[in-house]
Amino acid sequence: VMASMAHLQKEKLQLQEDLLELQEKLTAQENDKLSLSLQLQGQVETLKEKLLEQAQEISRLRSELGGTDAEKHRDLLAAENERLRQDMKACEGELRELRRQQQQQAPCRDCPHLRENAGLQEQLSQLQREAEETRAKLVELDLEVQQKTNRLAEVELRLKDSLAERAEEEERLSRRLRDSQETIASLKSQPQQIKYIIKTVEVESTKAKQALCETQSRNQYLQEQVGMQKQVLKEMEQQLQSSQKTEAQLRAQIMMYEAELERAHGQMLEEMQAMEEEKNRAIEEAFSRAQVEMKAVHENLAGVRTNLLTLQPALRTLTHDYNSLKRQVRDFPLLLQETLRSARAEISQAIEEVHSTNRELLRKYRRELQLRKKCHNELVRLKGNIRVFGRVRPITKEDGEGPEAANAVTFDADDDAVLHLLHKGKQVSFELDKVFPPQASQEEVFQEVQALVTSCIDGYNVCIFAYGQTGAGKTYTMEGTAANPGINQRALQLLFSEVRGKAADWDYTITVSAAEIYNEALRDLLGKEPQEKLEIKLCPDGSGQLYVPGLTEFRVQSVEDINKVFEFGHVKRVTECTNLNEHSSRSHALLIITVRGLDRSTGLRTTGKLNLVDLAGSERVGRSGAEGSRLREAQHINKSLSALGDVIYALRSRQGHVPFRNSKLTYLLQDSLSGDSKTLMMVQVSPAEKNTSETLCSLKFAERVRSVELGPVSRKAELGSWPSQEHLEGDSPGSAVPPGRGHASPSPGQLSSRSASIRRKLHTSG
Ligand code: ADP
Ligand code: MG
Repeated sequence: VMASMAHLQKEKLQLQEDLLELQEKLTAQENDKLSLSLQLQGQVETLKEKLLEQAQEISRLRSELGGTDAEKHRDLLAAENERLRQDMKACEGELRELRRQQQQQAPCRDCPHLRENAGLQEQLSQLQREAEETRAKLVELDLEVQQKTNRLAEVELRLKDSLAERAEEEERLSRRLRDSQETIASLKSQPQQIKYIIKTVEVESTKAKQALCETQSRNQYLQEQVGMQKQVLKEMEQQLQSSQKTEAQLRAQIMMYEAELERAHGQMLEEMQAMEEEKNRAIEEAFSRAQVEMKAVHENLAGVRTNLLTLQPALRTLTHDYNSLKRQVRDFPLLLQETLRSARAEISQAIEEVHSTNRELLRKYRRELQLRKKCHNELVRLKGNIRVFGRVRPITKEDGEGPEAANAVTFDADDDAVLHLLHKGKQVSFELDKVFPPQASQEEVFQEVQALVTSCIDGYNVCIFAYGQTGAGKTYTMEGTAANPGINQRALQLLFSEVRGKAADWDYTITVSAAEIYNEALRDLLGKEPQEKLEIKLCPDGSGQLYVPGLTEFRVQSVEDINKVFEFGHVKRVTECTNLNEHSSRSHALLIITVRGLDRSTGLRTTGKLNLVDLAGSERVGRSGAEGSRLREAQHINKSLSALGDVIYALRSRQGHVPFRNSKLTYLLQDSLSGDSKTLMMVQVSPAEKNTSETLCSLKFAERVRSVELGPVSRKAELGSWPSQEHLEGDSPGSAVPPGRGHASPSPGQLSSRSASIRRKLHTSG
């Protein structure tokens, strides 16, 4: 609080100081104002004095008739007046400045010294009033000056008058001077008198001279003035003259123009008249010309009228024609439409007819197609899945010469399924599915087989057997020679080309295996250990499929691959066996081709197996009393061949049980013989006379296999045919065994004991 008090006191002191300063300033300003007002008063007084002086001067001038000086004075006065006015303005400006300063110096309105300030302001306003008064006085003075200037103008006028008077006075004075000179001259002639007079005159003349001098100087001045005025006058006159001259010129020009105007007017009038005349003339001319033309036109019109009269009939005929044409045109679309309609109707009718006939034809065609399909199906059913072909090889050098090598086989010219064999002076006929004569080429044989091969691609299992005695051409048919390949190579080639044709949708892989069954032992011809006996096992997946573990499979893609595979197999067989021919005739050779397909679009998988089997020779070795290994071989061969016969028979007669397990061969081919599988038995026979006995056996086997397919009725017929066979084979020891129920059947199936015994006779008995 003390500190704030001290602070406040300090502020108070500061304010008091400020106040003192302000008061000082105010007093200074007052002093300034006083001095200024004093100055102004002084100035006003001096101005008044000056005015007085001027008035005096004017009065003096008036008294002295000094008109010319008065002008100068007036000018001087006017200048003075101006200066005074400017001074006054400056004073006013200063006053304003002072007031402004005063306003600026009152920033602290809340100041406690406001009252003092107000007092000062009052003083100021008083001063201002005073200044106003002085200004009013000034205005008054101004007015006075004005009045004086007015008076000055009057004085000037009067001066002019006085000038004129002076001129008169001058003249008078000059006259008086001349008179006085004359009198002086006359007085000179009277010296005494004159001397006195002179003296008096001299006394007078000095005064006069002084006056004269003054008057002369003034005269001179006035003369100068007059000269100036004269000059001005002259100039004015000159101006007047020049203006008069120009006026005269202008008048002359005006006159000229007026004259010209008049002339032009006259010309115009003349031209107008001329034009009027010309117009009249032209009108007249045009009128006359038009009259002439009118006449010509009238003449033309008359001609046209006559023409018209002649044309009217032609026009009438034309309009008639036109109308008729129009009618025709009007009728034309109707006619056209009608024609079109009828044509359309005809066309549509024709189309309809064609359509109906087409439909009829299509219907008929479909019906025929169905019929054909049905017939085909029937045919396929009739043909069965097991087909039997016969092939007779030509007589070769090995057959030798003489009656033994004579041909014992003849063919039917009309039926390619019938074959006649001359055996012991009797001709026996056999009917198979097809019989190939000796001249039939490998190509022809394959053509009959290829349908089976292609069905393999569709996923069917196929078996092709070559059956027959040794040397009857089994190997030739299956393998062929290098120059003339057999079914094996041709089948593979056909598979390759078919697979290539289907490559757009299907992926196929073709694999090849080669095996041999010798003495009921299965061996891999392409494996590393050919001596190893392979086992046939049931697939562990429960599908019932069989497979041979360790059997080598080669993937083949071209003919070169097949050749390599075959070569390899042959080499194996050659190195393993000392007597190839003999060995090959004692064993079954199998070529197993597996075709696996995948339809890329549906993902469907198919697997087809093509088994090409070159069977062992079917000749009856036991007959010649073979012993040891030969006998064992023969027994094995007979067993497997008879087992094959049994299986095929069981399949054909659609028996419940098929004895696949009776031999390795049938067991291995089980899945390729059953179900939808297709089988071809190619029975090879030799036509030579010496082989007729074996040929007869082979053909009997073939016919027996084939005849089963026609069901119970044909079986009956077949069964009925057996005695004749027995009769034919009457010399064989087995024939002595009478057929009966007591005989044990080799197969546990429903085979009749009679047929079983016959079969045994065929294959096993000597
Ligand atoms: P298999 O294999 O049945 O013992 P092969 O095929 O070895 O009989 O044939 C014996 C002989 O007969 C061979 O020299 C063979 O060339 C010849 N041969 C077999 N069939 C024909 C035939 N259709 N045309 C020409 N020669 C054949
Ligand atoms: Mg052979």
